[in-house]
This record gives sequence, structure tokens and C-alpha cells, in this order.
Amino acid sequence: MDFGLNEELVAMKEAARTFTEKEIVPHADKWDEEHHFPKDVIKKMGELGYFGCPVPEDYGGTDVGFLAQAILCEEVSRGSSSVRVAFNTQCLGTVVSILRHGTEEQKQKWVPDLINAEKIGCFAITEPNAGSDVLALKATAKKDGDGYILNGSKTWISFASHADLAMVYAYTDRSQGSRGMSAFVVDMHSEGVSTSNLDKLGTRSSPTGEISFEDVRLPADALLGPEGAGVKIVFSSLNQTRLSCASGGVGVAQACLDASIQYCLEREQFGKQIGQFQMNQALLAEMSAEIEAARLLTYKAAWQKDQGQLGNVRETCLAKYTAGMAVTHCSEKAMRILGAYGYSTEYPVARYYRDAILYQIVEGTTNVQKMILAQDLLGYRKANR
Ligand SMILES: Cc1cc2nc3c(=O)[nH]c(=O)nc-3n(C[C@H](O)[C@H](O)[C@H](O)COP(=O)(O)OP(=O)(O)OC[C@H]3O[C@@H](n4cnc5c(N)ncnc54)[C@H](O)[C@@H]3O)c2cc1C
Repeated sequence: MDFGLNEELVAMKEAARTFTEKEIVPHADKWDEEHHFPKDVIKKMGELGYFGCPVPEDYGGTDVGFLAQAILCEEVSRGSSSVRVAFNTQCLGTVVSILRHGTEEQKQKWVPDLINAEKIGCFAITEPNAGSDVLALKATAKKDGDGYILNGSKTWISFASHADLAMVYAYTDRSQGSRGMSAFVVDMHSEGVSTSNLDKLGTRSSPTGEISFEDVRLPADALLGPEGAGVKIVFSSLNQTRLSCASGGVGVAQACLDASIQYCLEREQFGKQIGQFQMNQALLAEMSAEIEAARLLTYKAAWQKDQGQLGNVRETCLAKYTAGMAVTHCSEKAMRILGAYGYSTEYPVARYYRDAILYQIVEGTTNVQKMILAQDLLGYRKANR
């Protein structure tokens, strides 16, 4: 067993930290306040190869793997949880599925533009009445000649209003039950597609919105994989996007700890640094333990994917669950350490606090992660298949 990162990964981590400190940290609070989507920074990340880590060089990727991407994602998230979302839209929730299920033509057509962020992607699973219950989605894609006609409404879709391409899940044959769902890559500039933005508590420089598909004509090559493969594709995709949630949660939790340590060393009360008070020390120690546990689980899940175990649902759930809990606990503890200044918009801790809870909602809520883990433990439903 070796818990160390190799030289290449250490160098990537340091470079991502420098990038984040320079390009993201100085602006993150202002972007958040102004609900600004930093598309130019996402483009730079694309040019640096941040979204192409698990992608073969033939499609413009760097082929350095999921662990490398998890490390980059953690560092970026340390600066902005909103920018972190791009790891999913540009790669894990779109490109990885295209690589696994697409034809050679489809891979060449979509993958390079997404990973270099020439085109913005999104993935649209959630609907007004289908959140955790993915199979309850109502969107339909009816066969029409060679192609399909897509109808339906999606909601809470990250980057919806900026997306050029969307991975969309819809029923092609409802009579087949779950075997009737299919996956499509949809050109968001097609006639009949419209979007609107939603306001929200946090992650405010990552726009989230609704998408309406009204009689949208899809060409035959919009279909990813065979008809009816949608359920398989959506759940395997969630198992990859969950990894970015885990590393993103670790990144925000680490930012909370960094801010807390700095404040403990700066702020004086009763004639001492507040870091001298054992109750504050306990908070720091607890944060550090939770972060380290979440980081190791995240690295393990990413490493397994690099060994070809893309179906490692159990380990990815463990990482995502632990990171989601860690980041919410750490953001609350950071608020306590910073006192009134934590509550102030002068410090980024208030932003971390608003952003943290998202890690218990997206890519399967905390309850859903627990459900998957418990069903596996009880032998009701094996997580890794
Ligand atoms: C900022 C943001 C960005 C998002 N981005 C995307 C995106 O890009 N693409 C996309 O498709 N979706 C996206 N989502 C949607 C997100 O994936 C869903 O919010 C999530 O799946 C949960 O669904 P829901 O909010 O409808 O909650 P619900 O499913 O309605 O759940 C409500 C509560 O009930 C609990 N619950 C539900 N079912 C069970 C059960 N069987 N057992 C125990 N508890 C249960 C849940 O854990 C939760 O606590 C985004 C959401 C947000 C807030």
C-alpha cells in the first residue's frame, strides 16, 4: 500500500493551487455576489487540460486519470465551489459517458470541444417531479423517421443557460419501464429549446436553470448507445459525477480549515490568540480528521476508477457521503471560529457555509448515498455491479 502521490500528481496539485490562487480566489466572492459565470476561467482550465484527465489523447485528453482530475477538482473547489461544477459539465457527466457508449464519430464530434471548454456542456436528468426518483422522469423522445422528437422539462440543471450541448435522458418507450429510457446528446441551439435561470442560496457563480424542450427535432446520431440504455448510462454517469462532488466537498472543507487556522492565529481575545483556547483547538482537530478521512476515501475511489473499476458505486458513495458530511460540519465550525466575521460577507467563510450544503443534495442526496450503502450491506442490492 502506498498513500503518497507520485511526483507528477504532486506537481499537478501545486500547479492547480497556484492557478486557483491567481485566477479564482481574488474574484470568487465578487463573482458570487454578482452571480457572474466565469466562462473565461473555465475556458482557461479547458486549455490547461483540467477536464481531459481521464480522456485518451486521441480525443484531445491528457490521459492522466481520475485521481489526477480529483486532485485538480479539490484545488479548484478550494477557491470556488461554483467553478468546480465544470468538472462535471465538461467531463464526468458528459464526456465519460460519450467515451463509454458513443460511436467513434460521436466521440470525435463532441469530446474535444467539451474538454477544452470550446463548448459548454450540461447534463439534464432532474425534472420538476423526478429528483431522487430518476425513473419518474417524464421527458419523451419519440421516433420520427431517422431521428427523434424530444419533449419535456428539466430543472435544476447546472450551466443550462450557457450550454451548447446537453446530455438529456428521456423515455423512448414508456411501455418498457426502465428499459425504455434512452440517453441523447442535444444541441442546445436547436429550435424548440429554451432555458431560464433559478435563484439560489449558494454556488451562485454556477448558473442553474430550467430547460424546456418543445418538439425538438433530434438527428439519429443524437442517440447515445442503443435505445433503452438510458438507465444504465445515467446511473453509471452519476457514479462518475459523484467523484467530483467528493473532491469538491474536500476542497471547500479544506478552505474552511485554512480560514479557521488563519483566524485563530490573528484574532486575540482575553489577551491571547483565540487559537490558544482548547475549545477552538478541538474544532480544528475535528475538521482536520474529517477532511483527511474524506480525502483518502475520495483518492481511493478515484484510484479504483483508474484501475478500470468504473462501477465502484460503493466506494464512490462512501467518498461522496463522507465529504458531504465533512464539508457541512467544517463550514459550520469555521463560522463558529470566525464569530461575527464568519457571518460577514467580508470573509469567504459565509460563502463556504452557503455552498457546503449542496454537497448533501446533488448527485444523489446524503439519504440516497446511505440507502445505496445500507442496501449493499444488507445484501438487498449489490452496489458494485
Ligand atoms: C445547485 C444545484 C445544481 C444541480 N445541478 C443538476 C444538474 O446539473 N443536472 C441534474 O440533472 N440535476 C441537478 N440538480 C438536481 C439534483 O441532482 C437534485 O436536487 C437531487 O437529485 C435531489 O432531488 P430533489 O432536490 O428533487 O429532492 P427529492 O428527491 O425531492 O428529495 C427530498 C428529500 O427526500 C429525501 N428522499 C427522497 N427519496 C428518498 C428515499 N427513497 N429514501 C430516503 N430519503 C429520500 C431526499 O434525500 C431529500 O432529503 C442540481 C440541484 C441543485 C440544487
